[in-house]
Amino acid sequence: MQVKVFLKRALTASLLSAALLGVAAAFGGADCGTSTDGTTTISIITGIPHDLVDSGKHCDYDSNQSKYDSYVKTAVATWNAYKSGVFRPDDGKVLQDVRISDVDKAGDNAFASTNLQLGTIHLNKAHLDKSSWNYNNRLKTITHELGHALGLDENNDGLPTNVMRQGQLENISLSTDDKASYDAAYARY
Ligand SMILES: [Zn+2]
Repeated sequence: MQVKVFLKRALTASLLSAALLGVAAAFGGADCGTSTDGTTTISIITGIPHDLVDSGKHCDYDSNQSKYDSYVKTAVATWNAYKSGVFRPDDGKVLQDVRISDVDKAGDNAFASTNLQLGTIHLNKAHLDKSSWNYNNRLKTITHELGHALGLDENNDGLPTNVMRQGQLENISLSTDDKASYDAAYARY
C-alpha cells in the first residue's frame, strides 16, 4: 500500500484554530479534498506544542465539570482501545494535561475547540444541545477534539469517514487514516 503523508505545518495562530470543527459545516459541509484508493492520509499537527500528551505518553484529563462527561469517557475508550492507557482521568496526584469544559456561544460556528497551549477543550452547548443533534453527532465531535489533544490535525483530504474530518458527524469509529495519524503522532511524544 502506498502511504501518502501530509505533515501539516501549524502556524502559531492556527494552533488555536486547529480545532474549529464547525468551519466546514459553516460552508455547507464542503470538503477540501477526496481520498485516493489505496492510500493512507496522515495529518498531524507539527510545531511546539503539538499535543497535550506528556513525556510519559499520558494525557491526564478532567471532564468532571462537563455535562458531556459520559461522552468523554466513551470517546476516551475509543482512542485507548487503539493505544491503551494514553488518556487517563485526572486523579489529583498527577498534573492535569487537559481540562474539558462547556461553553455556550450561540454566535460561534465552532462546535468545539481545543487550545493546545492552554490545555483546554471547550464544548459548545449551543451546538451540541441542538434538537437536530443526535448521540453520534455529539460523540463524534468530542472524539474529534480528543484527537487534537493527541496531536492529530484536521484530515479533510483522506477518507470521508475520518473522525478527524471536519463536518463529518456520523462516524464515531477510528478509520485507517485516523489510526495511521495517531501512529505518527505517538512516535513524536
Ligand atoms: Zn478539528
